[in-house]
Amino acid sequence: MDLIAHALYGATVCSKKGLAGKRDGSSARHWYLDKTVWWAILFGLLPDMLSMWIPFAVYTITGPQEHFFRYFGGPWLTVYRVVHSLVCAAAVSGILYKVRRPLFVPSLAWMLHVLMDAISHGVGKYQTLLFYPFSTWGIDGIPWWRSPWLLPMSWLLLPVIWMALWWWRRRWRKT
Ligand SMILES: [Zn+2]
Repeated sequence: MDLIAHALYGATVCSKKGLAGKRDGSSARHWYLDKTVWWAILFGLLPDMLSMWIPFAVYTITGPQEHFFRYFGGPWLTVYRVVHSLVCAAAVSGILYKVRRPLFVPSLAWMLHVLMDAISHGVGKYQTLLFYPFSTWGIDGIPWWRSPWLLPMSWLLLPVIWMALWWWRRRWRKT
């Protein structure tokens, strides 16, 4: 998916203000004061940041004529596959569980990113190889860049989740 969807879903699912906070939510008054929101956004963006931001900067400076997603490849494609693998995501979360427990839940946004890409990319260069480098198997999903309805639909689902969460917590507090 696109960066906005990854950031917002990361925070919505893996922060205390979001679903990971369950009924109690976060003690922070506003969402932007809750550190887990920012960590979840960062982890939700990391797979694309680590694999694409440097080649994108090079591409912008050198200015090749072809489209970035066609230009992208070589060793960076291997990096892309490694960081878009559940193996890598699980390793990162596993290490954080041991050494920095408060970051464990926000770090699951990385895994969420991989799963979201797995269903929103099809067979081809950008297919998500879920167990790379051990296997090159992946789901033949619906490529979001070729399905104009998918992106707005994923955004529209977010306020529905936020409203439901707000309503659930409000009800819980009353009883
Ligand atoms: Zn990605």
